[in-house]
Amino acid sequence: MEYTISLVGNPNVGKTSLYNRITHSLEHVGNWHGVTVTEVSKKIMFDHNTVNMVDLPGLYSLSVYSPEEGISRDRILDKSSDLIINICEVNNLARNLYLTLQLLELDVPTVLVVNMMDELKKQGKVLNYRKIEKVLKIPIVPMSAKYHSDVHLLMQVALDHIQTHGANTVNLEYLEKLPLDDVVSIIGANAANAGFVPRWAAIKVLENDAFVLEKLNLNELQIKALEAMGDMQARVAQVRYEFIDKITEGAISRSVSDEHHEMHEHTEHNVPIEREGEPEEERDKKDKHARHHDKHKKSERLKMLGFSRIDKIVLNKYLALPIFLLVMALIFVVTFGLVGKFFTWLLELGIDKLIYNPLTKWLVKIKCPAWIVGLVGDGIIHGVGGILVFLPQIVLLFFFLALLEDSGYISRVAFMTDGIFRKIGLSGRSAFTMLMGFGCSATAVLTARGLEDDTMRKKTVLLTPFMSCSARLPVYSTVAAAFFAAGSPFVIFGMYVLGAAVALLLAALFEKCVKPLKSGKLSFIMEMPPYRFPTAERVFQIIWNNAKVFLIRVGTVIFALNVIVWLLSNFSFTAGYTVGKNAKSILELISGWIAPVFKPFGFGNWKAVTSLLSGLVAKEVVISSIESLGGVEAIFTGSHASLSALTFMVFTLLYVPCVATLVAIRKEAGLKWMFFSLGLQIGVAYVVSLLFYGVGLLYYLNKGVFIGCIIVAAVVAVCISVFIGRLRGKKACPYCAGGCGTCSKTCKKTNRDKK
Ligand code: GDP
Ligand code: MG
Repeated sequence: MEYTISLVGNPNVGKTSLYNRITHSLEHVGNWHGVTVTEVSKKIMFDHNTVNMVDLPGLYSLSVYSPEEGISRDRILDKSSDLIINICEVNNLARNLYLTLQLLELDVPTVLVVNMMDELKKQGKVLNYRKIEKVLKIPIVPMSAKYHSDVHLLMQVALDHIQTHGANTVNLEYLEKLPLDDVVSIIGANAANAGFVPRWAAIKVLENDAFVLEKLNLNELQIKALEAMGDMQARVAQVRYEFIDKITEGAISRSVSDEHHEMHEHTEHNVPIEREGEPEEERDKKDKHARHHDKHKKSERLKMLGFSRIDKIVLNKYLALPIFLLVMALIFVVTFGLVGKFFTWLLELGIDKLIYNPLTKWLVKIKCPAWIVGLVGDGIIHGVGGILVFLPQIVLLFFFLALLEDSGYISRVAFMTDGIFRKIGLSGRSAFTMLMGFGCSATAVLTARGLEDDTMRKKTVLLTPFMSCSARLPVYSTVAAAFFAAGSPFVIFGMYVLGAAVALLLAALFEKCVKPLKSGKLSFIMEMPPYRFPTAERVFQIIWNNAKVFLIRVGTVIFALNVIVWLLSNFSFTAGYTVGKNAKSILELISGWIAPVFKPFGFGNWKAVTSLLSGLVAKEVVISSIESLGGVEAIFTGSHASLSALTFMVFTLLYVPCVATLVAIRKEAGLKWMFFSLGLQIGVAYVVSLLFYGVGLLYYLNKGVFIGCIIVAAVVAVCISVFIGRLRGKKACPYCAGGCGTCSKTCKKTNRDKK
């Protein structure tokens, strides 16, 4: 038999982790929301059955907001799955079950997986899932998908359930509290026409579900009749949550060994406030208890939002940014400093001694034509090998990024930036996409699909290419090592910071000046995933995924391009092989025409232009072309060679990452925006490089004027920051995770109410 099983659940509950376990895949798992943005599927064999497993983007409810949630909703509603494995996170059971109830209302065969049992165990608690199972009448399988999971048992349960599931086995008693029959009498015929079960459509109508309402195509009379029933949206949520409260009450309890601790806590926190006739000392003691109790309640609320004690330091107003910069600087020093350089040097040595020398000697010995020796030696081995040697640095960089991502720190970074980001029409979730841009611009652009707001999505897509992707890394590493020696980790770090700064400045500019890109007020609620200990397996997966992409690129695109670039730069239209002849090669001719454009930066020569042009297909080729055209020293010459080299890095950072990114932008934002983005990247790259070179030249020519300019710039920057500070107004509130949009007033009020 052949079955389709879909994995459905809230974001960040471990769906992809489980999918990877079941299908032995290496799909991206991340400790943040919105990692999976498209559906992924793979067929496996189980018990002589073919099972098509589908991993879907996360969603909180069937009434969806973002396009990625829409993908999941459509997959659930079209009932193309024989079974849904609904994954819940045990620490957020109540919220997760909200979606479960909606699946049961829809009456799709469902098996419930309660994940992250390891975290519950660590808290010394146990889950009495049998109790929930009895009410919901669906199989429940507790597990820890990240560590050890009895996937075999789960699959067995799932297939059994497909075969035994009958229609309407669940009794969802709370539905009786809703006027479903009345709604069915109004919309019944339309629901049947639209292919919905009328009672289910009635629930959705009460929920004001835009998707279902549109499909029902109701007439004005029907709409009036529904309006007369009043707004029932909140009521639906209320009855569902009441039901969830009922079934989960007491389901999680402390394991016996922790009972004593619980008793202690209980007496400590429930201090009665009885004041009359109390001695002062006693009252003070009780006040202290009451304050402690309040503090405890507050920390419980923060905990619910995912905040942990470490966040007091990591998200501290004054420490957050220095900590982030310190962490990043450390990573760069290790990756591009001695450690990374040592491995790169080792690999370079190996390629030279074991491949280049013997192979070229052998080719000469068997009397191969000079151009073949040149093509194999310089074009292929030095060109492609020159890129391959950066593998250790890429592995190191992703090792650290994997640690940051899997531990949950990257989400903190997104949270920190959320306040500033919203001022410029982006959100913390845009920060995820942009941080992904450090990996590969093209894939990062595709993750923007998870952003709810259309304008924000476009803007994020346009800005992500400015984040420095790993393909630019070999360029920085080679150029910086040649001109800045020990300072190179900091120069490279500077490039990453510059890319991010340009992206943020552009965002602010768009928000103020480009009407179609003005997002206005955004409401956005961000959740904080808990800190989790990164597993070696997961870290290895992230490294392997990125290293694999890199190796495939080296073996295909970069290899092919190197051969083409070498041939075009060593052959002329008329004279054939140009070495030793007084003839211009094809590229020398073409790039020579463009070269004057780069004269102001000091690298207006055909070799630099050739490398930049070939970099349009893949950024790594910039450096492999340079290597096969005589190395960096041949390109950056003259009295300001190091300034030219630095400007070259800036230009490489900011101009189009690669054709694949443009294709991704077209996919996410359309053709018009793709051309806009192309023009924007080239324009920004040119202008910023010009400014950069100009300021640098000033420094070389007249230090006094340079310092004067710096002081003026600093004063202007302070004025602007004071101005922005006034615009920013009040700080974000931790109760809504800084995300309610209309923060401060609403939240302060809510807090008072809660107190
Ligand atoms: P998805 O968004 O639902 O696909 O979730 P992912 O599979 O991407 O996982 C989200 C985060 O939860 C990652 O950091 C995982 O390592 C972590 N995670 C997944 N399953 C477990 C588990 O059983 N226990 C713990 N402690 N963490 C888990
Ligand atoms: Mg996922």
